[in-house]
Amino acid sequence: MTDWSPRTRAVHAGTRRSQYGEMAEAIYLTQGFKYDSAEQAEARFIESGPDEFIYARYGNPTVAMFEERIASLEGTEDAFATASGMAAVNGALTSMLKAGDHVVSSRALFGSCLYILEDILPRFGVEVTFVDGTDLDAWRAAMRDDTRAVFLETVANPTLEVIDLAAVSEIAHDKGATVIVDNVFATPVFSEAVAQGADVVVYSATKHIDGQGRCLGGVICGSQEFIRKTVEPYLKHTGGSISPFNAWVMLKGLETLHLRCTQQAETALALAEALEGHDKLANVLYPHLPSHPQYGVAKAQMGAGGTVIALDIKGGQAEAFRFLNALQIVSISNNLGDSKSLVTHPKTTTHQRLSDEQRDELGITDGLVRLSVGLEDAGDLLNDLKSALDMI
Ligand SMILES: *Cc1c(COP(=O)(O)O)cnc(C)c1O
Repeated sequence: MTDWSPRTRAVHAGTRRSQYGEMAEAIYLTQGFKYDSAEQAEARFIESGPDEFIYARYGNPTVAMFEERIASLEGTEDAFATASGMAAVNGALTSMLKAGDHVVSSRALFGSCLYILEDILPRFGVEVTFVDGTDLDAWRAAMRDDTRAVFLETVANPTLEVIDLAAVSEIAHDKGATVIVDNVFATPVFSEAVAQGADVVVYSATKHIDGQGRCLGGVICGSQEFIRKTVEPYLKHTGGSISPFNAWVMLKGLETLHLRCTQQAETALALAEALEGHDKLANVLYPHLPSHPQYGVAKAQMGAGGTVIALDIKGGQAEAFRFLNALQIVSISNNLGDSKSLVTHPKTTTHQRLSDEQRDELGITDGLVRLSVGLEDAGDLLNDLKSALDMI
């Protein structure tokens, strides 16, 4: 299997078959597992093998298939699946940190990630320094001898700022810090995060891995030592484990991940190119447009520009709302990575909690809208977007 390409591994890696030889992976919707004897139960609590399970909060065959498949795709030794993307972000950080530790993080983060780093970790004595993720000197200046971890979103939400992962990893590793990345926007398809230096890669599987807007889920990918000795004890005792049903949806989602993400990114690039320079738009942000501020890094780091575009509508919030309300195919919803195209106004929804200064710092203007490009026909989407822009 080691010489199989990622697309083959996305379909086959991790498969476990029961005595029935089922083709589609089974959903083992069970909380517990029966032991043949009291002695066997005792032995399993001392040490359980890869196909020996105790309780669904600790592990489950369907969950194990998903973990093994995503780890294989990501190029890490192991993975731990979680109830949501946030359980994964929280689990990766909290399981390894303790009072007195120092963390350096990029400032441009998904709202809930920012809450963990800005509000929760400091409450437990972890000091966090925030930096402009695109400024390598700022990363260098923030690192200390007691820095345990650096945290960043490789492509930030919603402004699509791209961070030079290889450069930040080198700075972090110089101080022996663990590099933890939230890689949702880059997707497992377009990113080589581990090859570029990440030690731990976290996904909200809710997004592209499900890809059809059904289940919450998340996953932490890393070394066997980190996953089994640090993450697993924390998550299995604190309750952030994924449901076997949701793990099955994610497992099957991996089989079509490459096709979906490739098509969605191709449409996203076509739309970004077609809309750039439109007279109702102050700006079109997409990592693989030459006008993107980190275009060079984005081209070197990502196989495609991703499935999300940011549009800055002239005329601020009122015109942005008029645009959103005029869309026929694209739905107003704050999710992303869905097969249905979705649009959101970050200032009044996902980033409402931030102060005006914080939003300014992150480039979240009154007119900014985030468009998650789905699987619809590119021509239909372009017509819908253009018609809605005409309403402004
Ligand atoms: C959605 C998202 C999360 C959180 O994932 P959930 O599955 O909703 O908990 C974390 N980080 C990023 C970048 C996201 O887009």
